[in-house]
Amino acid sequence: MTRRDCSQQRGGYPQTVATPVGIDEIRPEEARERLDENDAPVLIDVRTDRERATSYIPGSLHLPMAEVESRLADVASDPNRPIITYCATGNRSRRILPTLAALGYEDAVSMAGGIVAWQALGYPTESPSALDDEKLARYSRHLLIPEVGIEGQQRLLETSILLIGAGGLGSPAALYLAAAGVGRIGIVDDDRVDASNLQRQVLHSTVELGESKAQSARATVEELNPDVQVVTYEERLTSENVDRILGEGWEFVVDGADNFPTRYLLNDASVWHDVPVVHGSIYRFEGQVTVFKPFTGPCYRCLFPQPPPPELAPSCAEGGVLGVLPGVIGSLQANEALKLALDIGEPLVGRLLLFDALTTNFSEVTVRRNPNCPACGDNPTITEYIDYAEFCGVGPSSPAVAPAGRSPAPSPPDDPGRHEGLRGRVPNTVPSGLAPPSSPEESPK
Ligand SMILES: [Zn+2]
Repeated sequence: MTRRDCSQQRGGYPQTVATPVGIDEIRPEEARERLDENDAPVLIDVRTDRERATSYIPGSLHLPMAEVESRLADVASDPNRPIITYCATGNRSRRILPTLAALGYEDAVSMAGGIVAWQALGYPTESPSALDDEKLARYSRHLLIPEVGIEGQQRLLETSILLIGAGGLGSPAALYLAAAGVGRIGIVDDDRVDASNLQRQVLHSTVELGESKAQSARATVEELNPDVQVVTYEERLTSENVDRILGEGWEFVVDGADNFPTRYLLNDASVWHDVPVVHGSIYRFEGQVTVFKPFTGPCYRCLFPQPPPPELAPSCAEGGVLGVLPGVIGSLQANEALKLALDIGEPLVGRLLLFDALTTNFSEVTVRRNPNCPACGDNPTITEYIDYAEFCGVGPSSPAVAPAGRSPAPSPPDDPGRHEGLRGRVPNTVPSGLAPPSSPEESPK
């Protein structure tokens, strides 16, 4: 018998290594010897991209089976130089030999048993990427998507995303970004886990009542995915710390803030630091998502030049919120952040997405950058941090207390007091920032 069924060698190669090999095959031991020689043969890996991504023999060139005919000359320019082919177990690398011969490469042999046998002998292999076997398994469903793949996954593992708030919006965003393998996640939150949070803030659980939200979030994220480095900031975002925090290498911000002073502060800082912000807000059954990409699209001040009067902007604590709503909106924020990190798709830059949980209706309005914007406009008037609490009317001297969890959608002066929700009021309340309300005002997409 001169031919061997390579499949019989799986997992048992060392025991069968003495089996005679075909005349067009060489054993891994001999292949290794020949590869160490001065005029070594060209070693060609004919496996698929995905197989190659797991590990390969050092010094080998990659030429998948399907590309042999079209690209062999690129990989092996000299037809007289000997070739050793290999695959996983030696079947395909042997089957391709007649094709090589037909192309003029007659001095070619296949390595019996393939890389499986090579590894069983303890010979060295290399991994082409930072993705070891564990990561290849963990992110396998990403690797199957052409728009992500190994490169995209590596990119995610190198991405730094800062979350403002580990509450309703920050919870799903943190969980999905961590699960996706975003390598570095920052969490800014000075709050502690309260019983009333648990209806929606899925980062936290009953046993964590009273604990720091940032620490609770860190524990949950690290348990979910040890690949993620979690950086916690147990402090409230302020004019004093925002430059330091944003200066620590964050590429994108996911805004899950529950109050207006923080949103305006974050906006100004992100414009000056040129960091895109994925914005989300929720109120009862309604949510909004958009992406503020400085100088490419509008900023928060382009959209909402003025905060609403505090009495017209009840927070979730005051107005309530359906528990699943932040799950929807925070997940959409994570989706936008991943797209930005991977540079794929069409992010919500200049588009305000509106969601109504009661009707299960998504719609969107176009938002344009305002050339007269005080923060990102052509002649900005706000060039340093202001007193954001005072600006939003929630300063210590103000009678208003809790800031709002929803986007400001202040009613016009002649129509005060309406706050049935976010969606119906947006076009009325921010005409300067929104696209002309041609019919319909909110163009469903
Ligand atoms: Zn602006």
